[in-house]
Amino acid sequence: MSIKDEEAFDCKMCGHCCLGKGGIVVGPKDLARICAHLGLTPQEFEVAYGERRCGKLMIRTDSDNYCIFFEKDKGCSVHVAKPDICRAWPFFRGNLIDSDSLTMAKDFCPGIRSNVTHAEFAAQGVRYLREQGLLARDRNAEARALIIDDDEAARLAQDCPLSPAGTR
Ligand code: SF4
Ligand code: SF4
Repeated sequence: MSIKDEEAFDCKMCGHCCLGKGGIVVGPKDLARICAHLGLTPQEFEVAYGERRCGKLMIRTDSDNYCIFFEKDKGCSVHVAKPDICRAWPFFRGNLIDSDSLTMAKDFCPGIRSNVTHAEFAAQGVRYLREQGLLARDRNAEARALIIDDDEAARLAQDCPLSPAGTR
């Protein structure tokens, strides 16, 4: 993701967000996209790369605890087809609605501009999620971090008068 200096986020490709078990949810839309990219059936994908947690399909980690698709010094090996949850970070619901979560996210992710205000971050984030079609609806199959109801999204999008429109 490439964005202008004044924007809230610019990925530094450090790979921190590809480390750790669980959380990379593969929703129905993600599954179709990644299967088409890899030339696999959904069943083949799940056997080769997936695991079920809390009823949801997720991507497994490797022995190094990184996502099975992460390649050291190269990054995501399925970048063009990666799940929405990966496309959406750091604009997860928790970071959008809670300034303390954003503060912790800044410590974790060097791509978040250190001096971005919470309101600015939330407004840009909601705009980005909407533009990219990343907001989710299905709690049983999609990532909860991407489920933001319409009223909440509208409030967050309007909270920042400084946020430039259409900058992504
Ligand atoms: S932790 Fe942040 S900066 Fe690092 S790869 Fe992930 S999104 Fe990019
Ligand atoms: S799918 Fe790609 S971006 Fe997402 S966690 Fe795995 S390696 Fe990282």
